[in-house]
Amino acid sequence: MMIDGFGRTIDYLRLSITDRCDLRCLYCMPEHGVESFSHEKVMRFEELLQLCRIMSGLGVKKFKVSGGEPLVRRGTPEFIADLKQLPGVEQVTLTTNGQKLLPLLPQLEEAGLDGINLSLDSLDPQRYRQMSRRGELAPALAALEAACERDFCPVKLNTVLMDGLNGDEAPALAGLAKRLPVYVRFIELMPIGLGREFQPVPGEEVCRRLEAVFGPAEPDSGHWGNGPAVYYRFPGLLRPVGFIDAVSHRFCSSCNRIRLTAEGCLKLCLQYDIGCDLLTPLRQGASEEEIAQLIRDTVAMKPERHCFGEEVAEHREEHTMNAIGG
Ligand code: SAM
Ligand code: SF4
Repeated sequence: MMIDGFGRTIDYLRLSITDRCDLRCLYCMPEHGVESFSHEKVMRFEELLQLCRIMSGLGVKKFKVSGGEPLVRRGTPEFIADLKQLPGVEQVTLTTNGQKLLPLLPQLEEAGLDGINLSLDSLDPQRYRQMSRRGELAPALAALEAACERDFCPVKLNTVLMDGLNGDEAPALAGLAKRLPVYVRFIELMPIGLGREFQPVPGEEVCRRLEAVFGPAEPDSGHWGNGPAVYYRFPGLLRPVGFIDAVSHRFCSSCNRIRLTAEGCLKLCLQYDIGCDLLTPLRQGASEEEIAQLIRDTVAMKPERHCFGEEVAEHREEHTMNAIGG
């Protein structure tokens, strides 16, 4: 078991398996993309599996495959199948924009995927294209419907609302759960990278807007995920709605996660660039015990909390979100 310097058990790893993406969401990636890592800098799947095996030996049980867009990388379903086979791995979930998901669903089911988080910020085709700069709503929606229908794992829909862009869509997005067994979750926009340029809609405000349409919200104590979402039931919706209010309700005291970037850097907190490079020692032939010790030593430095909304001079993360897995 890995415990950090503040007594938190670390058992969840978010893996960014690529920094590339087929979309350019306004709050995440610049229009012309970001300079991608050269091919050799990106971890090969064997290297990723080796690091995941070491992590699971240290007590990491849950893995989230993310990016960039994980489904633009060839071989992702096979990688997920291999990851699921590692001893000690209890859960592997995927975060995707859904553009390429539909045809891969059978393979992902076969691989044993334990959960799908589909990111979707608008139900208006034009607005979806405007906000993602190049995506199409139809394939994402078709994938959402098919994933719910196949029903091999829970499906969550992640939405980031921004004032003046899609802030009016909370009821329409939550309303998907009138007919689909989907957990709709509203993620507060975080002031990271391009996210600093837009105005978030605080979770409490989203909840008020939902209550105005669906009726009173009832807190739901069910444990629907590994993360910090707080869930409420609304009349007429098949599943509770989740709120992830990283900024207005800090949940750092229960943070159980670390992150691995596509080029093999272990990161400890979204807001800080503190961490260490695991890929170089791995490629230089370090033993698994040496890498494990490096991970333990790094985890011991995990910051106590993020400081969004405060001035942070040192170690502030300057990456865009696609590089650190969301
Ligand atoms: N491409 C995949 C996707 O969109 O689901 C996986 C990577 S993406 C970086 C993961 C999640 O991070 C998405 O749900 C996205 O909306 C969210 N995200 C990106 N930038 C954000 C920000 N500044 N604040 C809050 N969430 C953000
Ligand atoms: Fe790509 Fe996901 Fe970032 Fe949108 S949020 S640009 S889909 S990585």
